[in-house]
Amino acid sequence: MKKLKVGILGATGTVGQRMIQLLERHPWFEVSAVAASDNSAGKNYAQATRWMLETPIPESVAKMTVQPCQPGLDCELMLSGLPSAIAEETELQLAKAGMPVLSNASSHRMKADVPLLVPEINPDHLDALELQKKRIGSRGFIVTNPNCSAIGLVFPLAALDRRFKVEAVHVVTMQALSGAGYPGVASLDIIDNVLPSIDMGGEDRKIETESLKILGKWRENRFVDAPMRISAMTHRVNVRDGHLEAVSVKLGTAASLQEVESALRDFGSPIDELQLPSAPRPVIHLESHVQRPQPRLDRDRGQGMAVVVGPVSPCAVLDYKFRVLSHNTIRGAAGAAVLNAELMYRKGLLA
Ligand code: NAP
Repeated sequence: MKKLKVGILGATGTVGQRMIQLLERHPWFEVSAVAASDNSAGKNYAQATRWMLETPIPESVAKMTVQPCQPGLDCELMLSGLPSAIAEETELQLAKAGMPVLSNASSHRMKADVPLLVPEINPDHLDALELQKKRIGSRGFIVTNPNCSAIGLVFPLAALDRRFKVEAVHVVTMQALSGAGYPGVASLDIIDNVLPSIDMGGEDRKIETESLKILGKWRENRFVDAPMRISAMTHRVNVRDGHLEAVSVKLGTAASLQEVESALRDFGSPIDELQLPSAPRPVIHLESHVQRPQPRLDRDRGQGMAVVVGPVSPCAVLDYKFRVLSHNTIRGAAGAAVLNAELMYRKGLLA
């Protein structure tokens, strides 16, 4: 089978490296071009990159010359790990030039016709692409994946909302250092410390707003937010990979502890039957031990694509509380973009 050629934008960065690692033996896709900033353009990939992963740089990619992030790259699809400030213009320019762009950046996530896609939850949001293509006047388009903490949160919320309706959510995050990219947070800021309000509160707002869009509907040519209230408080902690979140929820209808657990355990997804290569089965791993999940022990469940939900217990303020863990550079970034690409490929949106 001929593989689809994929270009990686921001290929030298934290997310770009993960995308290259995840695509190394992919059955449908192959990396055909790598692009980054002017500092890296013109160098070969191995020289330009401070490779931070345990597996070696794939041989075919190590030899590639890093290109500028411009139209004309030798590929049929682009996965982007660009910083938001750069992604805003660059991704739009590439989509206007006819390219499907699957982005990790926040710049386009909340736009009125841009899917904020989580295949297991809102595959129908891809219907927005028809409108988007008309707006930008191209066969190219932008599809985004969520903030790296929002992605973990939305799975238990989707499972509970489906059965009982969720009315209100309070979430406190403990987010890993790799979430800040490379070199990220200064060591003297984070050793012996926890840093509150990531991105001066911008991260809190992303979790609150993105989750409502993801859990909402695409109806009559517009996104309608899920009707629930979410309050988020974010923290950067001294962990390499894996975002942990402490969550309390208020439900719309009364449910026993066993019913809540079974809603989480039995969460089924509309894409299960598509057998996508990166889709974890099951996507929610329900943990019963009070001291799990832990980032170091549990972040790689389902090859880093599963979401681990900690023991559910009654909450004296809202109804129930639990913890959620997800791998921020895999499920929260590179793996999410690859899974989005797989869904779109299966649906014939990338041909
Ligand atoms: P990073 O490690 O700082 O990497 C940034 C990449 O963008 C590098 O390849 C860099 O190339 C390139 N770049 C920087 N300025 C550029 C420019 N002016 N033109 C072209 N390329 C440029 O960042 P990251 O953590 O991978 O994050 C990438 C994106 O993913 C961000 O939007 C971030 O918010 C999002 N995201 C990250 C995570 C995570 O867990 N890290 C999770 C979800 C979403 P050079 O090496 O040449 O400078």
